[in-house]
Amino acid sequence: MKNNSIKTLVRQNILQLQPYISFRDHNEFGSPVFLDANESPFGECNRYPDSTQKKLKNRLAELKKLSPSQMAIGNGSDELIDLIIKIFCEPKKDSILMMNPSFAMYGFYATINENRVLKLDLNEDFEIIKEDFLSSIKEESIKVFFLCSPNNPTGNSVEDIEFYLQNFNGIVVVDEAYIEFSGKKSSLELLDKYPNLIVLQTFSKAWGIAGARVGMAYASEEIITLINTVKAPYNVNVLSQELILKSLSEEGRLTENVNKILEERTWLQEQFKGIECIEKVFPTDANFFLIAMKNIEQVYAEMLDKEILTSRRDPAIPGCIRINVGNRQENERLIDLLKNIQL
Ligand SMILES: *Cc1c(COP(=O)(O)O)cnc(C)c1O
Repeated sequence: MKNNSIKTLVRQNILQLQPYISFRDHNEFGSPVFLDANESPFGECNRYPDSTQKKLKNRLAELKKLSPSQMAIGNGSDELIDLIIKIFCEPKKDSILMMNPSFAMYGFYATINENRVLKLDLNEDFEIIKEDFLSSIKEESIKVFFLCSPNNPTGNSVEDIEFYLQNFNGIVVVDEAYIEFSGKKSSLELLDKYPNLIVLQTFSKAWGIAGARVGMAYASEEIITLINTVKAPYNVNVLSQELILKSLSEEGRLTENVNKILEERTWLQEQFKGIECIEKVFPTDANFFLIAMKNIEQVYAEMLDKEILTSRRDPAIPGCIRINVGNRQENERLIDLLKNIQL
Protein backbone atom coordinates (compact mmCIF):
# COMPACT_ATOMS: atom_id res chain seq x y z
CA MET A 1 0.00 0.00 0.00
CA LYS A 2 1.40 3.35 -0.99
CA ASN A 3 -0.77 6.10 0.47
CA ASN A 4 -0.88 4.55 3.93
CA SER A 5 -4.33 5.82 4.78
CA ILE A 6 -7.03 3.37 5.77
CA LYS A 7 -9.55 6.13 6.51
CA THR A 8 -9.81 7.16 2.87
CA LEU A 9 -10.98 3.62 2.06
CA VAL A 10 -13.79 3.49 4.62
CA ARG A 11 -17.42 4.28 3.78
CA GLN A 12 -18.49 7.67 5.16
CA ASN A 13 -21.45 6.35 7.13
CA ILE A 14 -19.23 3.78 8.85
CA LEU A 15 -16.63 6.38 9.82
CA GLN A 16 -19.39 8.32 11.56
CA LEU A 17 -20.77 5.33 13.50
CA GLN A 18 -20.51 5.22 17.26
CA PRO A 19 -19.81 1.70 18.52
CA TYR A 20 -22.39 0.04 20.74
CA ILE A 21 -20.77 -0.06 24.15
CA SER A 22 -21.88 -2.62 26.68
CA PHE A 23 -21.25 -0.78 29.92
CA ARG A 24 -20.42 -3.87 31.94
CA ASP A 25 -17.95 -5.23 29.40
CA HIS A 26 -15.90 -2.07 29.55
CA ASN A 27 -15.62 -1.79 33.31
CA GLU A 28 -14.21 -3.90 36.10
CA PHE A 29 -16.66 -4.93 38.84
CA GLY A 30 -16.37 -7.11 41.92
CA SER A 31 -19.72 -8.83 42.42
CA PRO A 32 -22.25 -6.58 40.71
CA VAL A 33 -26.04 -6.85 40.58
CA PHE A 34 -26.92 -6.99 36.88
CA LEU A 35 -30.09 -4.99 36.33
CA ASP A 36 -28.92 -3.25 33.18
CA ALA A 37 -29.75 -5.52 30.25
CA ASN A 38 -33.25 -6.91 30.81
CA GLU A 39 -31.97 -10.49 31.08
CA SER A 40 -33.52 -13.11 33.32
CA PRO A 41 -31.91 -13.55 36.75
CA PHE A 42 -32.75 -17.30 36.57
CA GLY A 43 -31.31 -20.31 34.83
CA GLU A 44 -28.33 -21.33 32.81
CA CYS A 45 -26.80 -19.21 30.07
CA ASN A 46 -29.08 -16.36 31.18
CA ARG A 47 -26.53 -13.59 30.68
CA TYR A 48 -25.41 -12.01 27.43
CA PRO A 49 -21.90 -12.94 26.34
CA ASP A 50 -18.89 -10.64 26.74
CA SER A 51 -19.21 -8.40 23.68
CA THR A 52 -15.46 -7.79 23.70
CA GLN A 53 -14.53 -11.49 24.03
CA LYS A 54 -11.81 -10.44 26.43
CA LYS A 55 -10.73 -13.82 27.80
CA LEU A 56 -10.61 -15.36 24.37
CA LYS A 57 -8.59 -12.49 22.93
CA ASN A 58 -6.14 -12.49 25.82
CA ARG A 59 -5.50 -16.19 25.29
CA LEU A 60 -5.13 -15.76 21.53
CA ALA A 61 -2.82 -12.80 22.12
CA GLU A 62 -0.48 -15.06 24.10
CA LEU A 63 -0.55 -17.78 21.50
CA LYS A 64 -0.13 -15.51 18.47
CA LYS A 65 2.19 -12.99 20.13
CA LEU A 66 -0.09 -10.12 19.18
CA SER A 67 -2.11 -7.57 21.11
CA PRO A 68 -5.84 -8.12 21.76
CA SER A 69 -6.34 -4.77 20.00
CA GLN A 70 -5.14 -6.43 16.78
CA MET A 71 -7.95 -9.00 16.70
CA ALA A 72 -11.68 -9.18 16.09
CA ILE A 73 -13.73 -12.33 16.68
CA GLY A 74 -16.61 -13.30 14.45
CA ASN A 75 -19.45 -15.78 14.26
CA GLY A 76 -17.22 -17.81 11.96
CA SER A 77 -14.83 -16.04 9.62
CA ASP A 78 -17.81 -15.83 7.26
CA GLU A 79 -19.24 -13.06 9.39
CA LEU A 80 -15.92 -11.22 9.23
CA ILE A 81 -15.87 -11.44 5.42
CA ASP A 82 -19.31 -9.82 5.38
CA LEU A 83 -18.26 -7.07 7.81
CA ILE A 84 -15.06 -6.27 5.90
CA ILE A 85 -17.06 -5.78 2.71
CA LYS A 86 -19.61 -3.61 4.53
CA ILE A 87 -16.89 -1.39 6.02
CA PHE A 88 -15.01 -0.66 2.81
CA CYS A 89 -17.36 -1.14 -0.13
CA GLU A 90 -20.08 1.37 -0.92
CA PRO A 91 -23.17 -0.45 -2.28
CA LYS A 92 -23.79 0.03 -6.03
CA LYS A 93 -20.41 1.73 -6.38
CA ASP A 94 -17.42 -0.27 -5.15
CA SER A 95 -16.16 -3.74 -6.01
CA ILE A 96 -14.17 -6.60 -4.59
CA LEU A 97 -11.50 -8.57 -6.42
CA MET A 98 -11.16 -12.30 -5.87
CA MET A 99 -9.21 -15.19 -7.33
CA ASN A 100 -11.10 -17.46 -9.71
CA PRO A 101 -11.70 -20.20 -8.72
CA SER A 102 -11.78 -19.43 -5.01
CA PHE A 103 -14.06 -19.40 -1.96
CA ALA A 104 -17.60 -18.51 -3.02
CA MET A 105 -18.52 -16.58 0.13
CA TYR A 106 -16.54 -13.47 -0.90
CA GLY A 107 -18.75 -13.07 -3.96
CA PHE A 108 -21.86 -14.05 -2.03
CA TYR A 109 -21.53 -11.29 0.57
CA ALA A 110 -20.40 -8.70 -1.98
CA THR A 111 -23.45 -9.44 -4.10
CA ILE A 112 -25.81 -9.14 -1.13
CA ASN A 113 -24.19 -5.77 -0.39
CA GLU A 114 -24.65 -4.78 -4.07
CA ASN A 115 -20.93 -4.61 -4.77
CA ARG A 116 -19.49 -5.81 -8.02
CA VAL A 117 -17.40 -8.99 -7.95
CA LEU A 118 -14.36 -8.86 -10.21
CA LYS A 119 -12.56 -12.14 -10.79
CA LEU A 120 -8.90 -12.78 -11.40
CA ASP A 121 -8.65 -16.01 -13.43
CA LEU A 122 -5.89 -18.33 -12.22
CA ASN A 123 -3.56 -20.13 -14.63
CA GLU A 124 -3.70 -23.90 -15.24
CA ASP A 125 -1.69 -24.54 -12.06
CA PHE A 126 -4.18 -22.33 -10.18
CA GLU A 127 -1.65 -19.53 -9.68
CA ILE A 128 -2.28 -15.81 -9.98
CA ILE A 129 -0.89 -14.23 -13.14
CA LYS A 130 0.80 -11.12 -11.77
CA GLU A 131 0.42 -9.04 -14.95
CA ASP A 132 -3.31 -9.75 -14.88
CA PHE A 133 -3.46 -8.67 -11.25
CA LEU A 134 -1.66 -5.42 -12.02
CA SER A 135 -4.00 -4.60 -14.85
CA SER A 136 -7.11 -5.60 -12.86
CA ILE A 137 -6.34 -3.22 -10.01
CA LYS A 138 -6.36 -0.25 -12.37
CA GLU A 139 -10.12 -0.44 -11.81
CA GLU A 140 -10.54 2.15 -9.07
CA SER A 141 -13.76 0.79 -7.63
CA ILE A 142 -11.91 -2.20 -6.14
CA LYS A 143 -11.58 -1.69 -2.39
CA VAL A 144 -10.88 -5.20 -1.13
CA PHE A 145 -8.81 -8.03 -2.63
CA PHE A 146 -9.46 -11.49 -1.21
CA LEU A 147 -6.44 -13.80 -1.33
CA CYS A 148 -7.19 -17.31 -0.16
CA SER A 149 -4.08 -19.25 0.85
CA PRO A 150 -4.23 -22.23 0.78
CA ASN A 151 -6.98 -21.64 -1.75
CA ASN A 152 -10.34 -23.32 -1.55
CA PRO A 153 -11.18 -25.27 -3.76
CA THR A 154 -7.82 -25.65 -5.53
CA GLY A 155 -5.71 -26.55 -2.46
CA ASN A 156 -2.51 -24.68 -3.39
CA SER A 157 -0.98 -21.76 -1.50
CA VAL A 158 -0.46 -18.26 -2.90
CA GLU A 159 3.20 -17.38 -3.38
CA ASP A 160 4.75 -13.95 -2.80
CA ILE A 161 1.89 -12.40 -0.83
CA GLU A 162 3.91 -9.23 -0.19
CA PHE A 163 3.78 -8.45 -3.89
CA TYR A 164 0.01 -7.92 -3.62
CA LEU A 165 0.28 -5.93 -0.40
CA GLN A 166 2.84 -3.63 -1.96
CA ASN A 167 1.05 -3.05 -5.21
CA PHE A 168 -2.59 -2.72 -4.19
CA ASN A 169 -3.83 0.51 -2.60
CA GLY A 170 -6.84 -1.10 -0.98
CA ILE A 171 -7.41 -3.74 1.67
CA VAL A 172 -5.79 -7.16 1.16
CA VAL A 173 -7.51 -9.98 3.01
CA VAL A 174 -5.44 -13.15 3.35
CA ASP A 175 -7.83 -15.96 4.24
CA GLU A 176 -5.81 -18.61 6.10
CA ALA A 177 -8.64 -21.04 6.87
CA TYR A 178 -6.31 -23.96 5.96
CA ILE A 179 -2.91 -22.56 6.91
CA GLU A 180 -2.28 -25.15 9.65
CA PHE A 181 -2.22 -27.96 7.07
CA SER A 182 0.22 -26.20 4.77
CA GLY A 183 3.51 -25.95 6.66
CA LYS A 184 3.73 -22.43 5.20
CA LYS A 185 4.38 -19.25 7.15
CA SER A 186 1.36 -17.27 8.21
CA SER A 187 1.00 -13.70 6.97
CA LEU A 188 0.48 -12.62 10.59
CA GLU A 189 4.13 -11.69 10.67
CA LEU A 190 3.45 -9.06 7.99
CA LEU A 191 0.88 -7.18 10.06
CA ASP A 192 3.33 -4.62 11.43
CA LYS A 193 4.58 -3.83 7.97
CA TYR A 194 1.26 -3.45 6.11
CA PRO A 195 -1.62 -1.39 7.55
CA ASN A 196 -3.87 -2.62 4.72
CA LEU A 197 -3.53 -6.33 5.61
CA ILE A 198 -6.26 -8.40 7.25
CA VAL A 199 -5.51 -12.05 8.07
CA LEU A 200 -8.48 -14.37 8.61
CA GLN A 201 -8.20 -17.60 10.58
CA THR A 202 -10.84 -19.97 11.92
CA PHE A 203 -11.59 -22.70 14.44
CA SER A 204 -13.64 -24.55 11.83
CA LYS A 205 -10.96 -26.57 10.03
CA ALA A 206 -7.71 -27.67 11.74
CA TRP A 207 -9.14 -27.09 15.22
CA GLY A 208 -12.17 -29.18 14.32
CA ILE A 209 -14.76 -26.91 15.95
CA ALA A 210 -16.88 -25.79 12.99
CA GLY A 211 -20.06 -26.16 15.04
CA ALA A 212 -19.06 -23.38 17.44
CA ARG A 213 -18.80 -20.79 14.62
CA VAL A 214 -15.73 -18.86 15.71
CA GLY A 215 -13.31 -17.06 13.38
CA MET A 216 -10.70 -14.35 13.82
CA ALA A 217 -9.58 -11.27 11.91
CA TYR A 218 -6.09 -10.02 12.70
CA ALA A 219 -5.17 -6.52 11.48
CA SER A 220 -4.00 -3.04 12.43
CA GLU A 221 -5.74 -1.50 15.43
CA GLU A 222 -7.44 0.96 13.11
CA ILE A 223 -9.12 -1.78 11.07
CA ILE A 224 -9.97 -3.84 14.16
CA THR A 225 -11.73 -0.84 15.73
CA LEU A 226 -13.86 -0.54 12.60
CA ILE A 227 -14.80 -4.23 12.68
CA ASN A 228 -15.67 -4.04 16.37
CA THR A 229 -17.81 -0.98 15.67
CA VAL A 230 -19.94 -2.62 12.99
CA LYS A 231 -20.25 -6.12 14.42
CA ALA A 232 -23.36 -7.20 16.31
CA PRO A 233 -22.41 -6.67 19.97
CA TYR A 234 -23.15 -10.22 21.07
CA ASN A 235 -22.02 -11.97 17.91
CA VAL A 236 -20.15 -14.82 19.63
CA ASN A 237 -22.31 -16.68 22.12
CA VAL A 238 -21.38 -17.74 25.66
CA LEU A 239 -21.19 -21.48 24.92
CA SER A 240 -18.88 -20.99 21.95
CA GLN A 241 -16.56 -18.64 23.82
CA GLU A 242 -16.29 -21.16 26.66
CA LEU A 243 -15.78 -24.14 24.37
CA ILE A 244 -13.03 -22.38 22.41
CA LEU A 245 -11.25 -21.29 25.59
CA LYS A 246 -11.34 -24.86 26.84
CA SER A 247 -9.99 -26.19 23.53
CA LEU A 248 -7.17 -23.66 23.60
CA SER A 249 -6.14 -24.95 27.02
CA GLU A 250 -5.85 -28.55 25.80
CA GLU A 251 -2.18 -28.81 25.13
CA GLY A 252 -1.20 -30.43 21.86
CA ARG A 253 -4.77 -30.62 20.58
CA LEU A 254 -4.16 -28.66 17.38
CA THR A 255 -0.94 -30.48 16.51
CA GLU A 256 -2.57 -33.83 17.15
CA ASN A 257 -5.57 -32.99 14.94
CA VAL A 258 -3.38 -31.69 12.15
CA ASN A 259 -1.04 -34.68 12.28
CA LYS A 260 -3.93 -37.12 12.06
CA ILE A 261 -5.33 -35.33 9.03
CA LEU A 262 -1.93 -35.11 7.34
CA GLU A 263 -1.41 -38.83 7.91
CA GLU A 264 -4.76 -39.58 6.32
CA ARG A 265 -4.01 -37.17 3.49
CA THR A 266 -0.82 -39.08 2.71
CA TRP A 267 -2.67 -42.40 2.91
CA LEU A 268 -5.34 -41.19 0.49
CA GLN A 269 -2.76 -39.85 -1.91
CA GLU A 270 -1.18 -43.31 -2.11
CA GLN A 271 -4.56 -44.99 -2.58
CA PHE A 272 -5.56 -42.65 -5.42
CA LYS A 273 -2.68 -43.99 -7.53
CA GLY A 274 -3.89 -46.37 -10.18
CA ILE A 275 -7.61 -45.75 -9.67
CA GLU A 276 -9.08 -45.84 -13.14
CA CYS A 277 -11.64 -43.04 -12.90
CA ILE A 278 -9.08 -40.54 -11.60
CA GLU A 279 -7.54 -38.33 -14.24
CA LYS A 280 -5.45 -36.07 -12.00
CA VAL A 281 -5.00 -35.29 -8.32
CA PHE A 282 -3.90 -31.69 -7.86
CA PRO A 283 -1.22 -30.91 -5.26
CA THR A 284 -2.72 -29.79 -1.94
CA ASP A 285 -1.64 -27.75 1.09
CA ALA A 286 -5.05 -28.21 2.73
CA ASN A 287 -7.30 -30.92 4.20
CA PHE A 288 -8.90 -31.67 0.84
CA PHE A 289 -8.05 -32.75 -2.69
CA LEU A 290 -9.19 -31.29 -5.96
CA ILE A 291 -9.47 -34.23 -8.33
CA ALA A 292 -10.17 -34.32 -12.07
CA MET A 293 -12.32 -37.37 -12.82
CA LYS A 294 -12.53 -39.17 -16.15
CA ASN A 295 -16.28 -39.42 -16.28
CA ILE A 296 -17.53 -37.01 -13.71
CA GLU A 297 -21.26 -37.46 -14.31
CA GLN A 298 -21.04 -41.15 -13.63
CA VAL A 299 -18.47 -40.94 -10.81
CA TYR A 300 -20.39 -38.27 -8.95
CA ALA A 301 -23.69 -40.14 -9.37
CA GLU A 302 -22.18 -43.37 -8.06
CA MET A 303 -20.73 -41.58 -5.05
CA LEU A 304 -24.09 -40.00 -4.25
CA ASP A 305 -25.79 -43.34 -4.71
CA LYS A 306 -23.49 -44.79 -2.02
CA GLU A 307 -24.09 -41.70 0.15
CA ILE A 308 -20.54 -40.41 -0.11
CA LEU A 309 -20.96 -36.66 -0.23
CA THR A 310 -18.30 -34.62 -2.00
CA SER A 311 -18.22 -31.17 -3.51
CA ARG A 312 -18.70 -31.13 -7.26
CA ARG A 313 -16.74 -28.22 -8.78
CA ASP A 314 -17.62 -29.05 -12.39
CA PRO A 315 -18.52 -27.19 -14.61
CA ALA A 316 -16.70 -24.17 -13.05
CA ILE A 317 -13.57 -26.35 -12.86
CA PRO A 318 -14.23 -28.85 -15.65
CA GLY A 319 -14.37 -32.47 -14.53
CA CYS A 320 -13.35 -31.70 -10.96
CA ILE A 321 -14.58 -32.77 -7.55
CA ARG A 322 -13.31 -31.51 -4.20
CA ILE A 323 -13.04 -34.29 -1.65
CA ASN A 324 -12.01 -33.70 1.93
CA VAL A 325 -9.85 -35.92 4.07
CA GLY A 326 -11.97 -37.95 6.48
CA ASN A 327 -11.11 -40.51 9.14
CA ARG A 328 -9.72 -43.90 8.09
CA GLN A 329 -13.11 -45.58 7.97
CA GLU A 330 -14.58 -42.82 5.80
CA ASN A 331 -11.53 -42.75 3.55
CA GLU A 332 -11.70 -46.51 3.09
CA ARG A 333 -15.33 -46.27 2.01
CA LEU A 334 -14.38 -43.63 -0.52
CA ILE A 335 -11.45 -45.62 -1.92
CA ASP A 336 -13.47 -48.86 -2.10
CA LEU A 337 -16.12 -47.12 -4.09
CA LEU A 338 -13.72 -45.35 -6.46
CA LYS A 339 -11.84 -48.61 -7.12
CA ASN A 340 -15.05 -50.33 -8.08
CA ILE A 341 -16.27 -47.79 -10.59
CA GLN A 342 -16.32 -49.28 -14.10
CA LEU A 343 -16.15 -46.57 -16.72
C1 LIG B 1 -14.12 -23.05 5.56
C2 LIG B 1 -13.61 -21.74 5.16
C3 LIG B 1 -13.71 -20.63 5.99
C4 LIG B 1 -14.24 -20.81 7.38
O1 LIG B 1 -15.39 -20.18 7.60
P1 LIG B 1 -15.99 -20.18 9.07
O2 LIG B 1 -17.11 -19.22 8.88
O3 LIG B 1 -14.92 -19.69 10.01
O4 LIG B 1 -16.43 -21.57 9.38
C5 LIG B 1 -13.18 -19.43 5.59
N1 LIG B 1 -12.56 -19.30 4.41
C6 LIG B 1 -12.43 -20.34 3.58
C7 LIG B 1 -11.68 -20.19 2.33
C8 LIG B 1 -12.96 -21.58 3.92
O5 LIG B 1 -12.83 -22.61 3.07
